[in-house]
Amino acid sequence: MSKNIFVLFAIVGLAVMTAFLPVAEAVPHPPVQILIDVGHGGVDSGTSYHDVKEKEINLQVAKLLYSQLVEAGYSVILNRDRDQALSDDNKWLNSPSRHKRDLAQRRHLAKELSPQMMISLHVNWSSDERRRGPNVIYQSNNQSFLLADILQHSLNQVYRTKDEPARGKTYYLLRHDYCPTVIVEMGFISNSADRAFLTRQEGQQKIAQAIADAVSEYLLIIGEMQQITYSDNETWLHKLRRFLREKL
Ligand SMILES: [Zn+2]
Repeated sequence: MSKNIFVLFAIVGLAVMTAFLPVAEAVPHPPVQILIDVGHGGVDSGTSYHDVKEKEINLQVAKLLYSQLVEAGYSVILNRDRDQALSDDNKWLNSPSRHKRDLAQRRHLAKELSPQMMISLHVNWSSDERRRGPNVIYQSNNQSFLLADILQHSLNQVYRTKDEPARGKTYYLLRHDYCPTVIVEMGFISNSADRAFLTRQEGQQKIAQAIADAVSEYLLIIGEMQQITYSDNETWLHKLRRFLREKL
């Protein structure tokens, strides 16, 4: 596992480096299907509850998700595999804001690798301790919505919730069109039941499994849709409806 991650990081390193090399020296890299964006890290703990830190939960679930997806045969990249801030890696974006450099680095990877999707893992917080359950946030495009919808319903089954995904208009990470991107708020650190679930190995496994199942369902649908011939005046949404009518 750590060896795999090392190899993948070497590939990410190459991919990033090649962006700054003359074209002739560019090294080809294998296509990445899933980029897992592990929220926060290093000096940025994200949200917290006493000594429970969001950045640690994100990393633990990300590693489980990575293993499950690799085992299922997908090519996957984690953008951090330890407790580090991504802003430290970002030497070329000369912003004085560490937070901005961190987010720019995450988005830059999506541009460099052009994966089939980016999944950003986070944990939620509310002043209302009763608020609980997962929330998936999507971009203003059909593929991101489809991915978010499948993810939300898969996670709803684990949490026994009935939430719908939400469109995120103001999130910097979502404001790009390099690949369909979603933010997965995996539960509330401020709710005691969610917190117990998010910090136990068994809960983390279930969350990772629900995300992995949703990812493969999404890729299956997208893959099958590519087999359907497009008529010029048919929108992506029409095509999706047609696909669902034929399959279900
Ligand atoms: Zn977060």
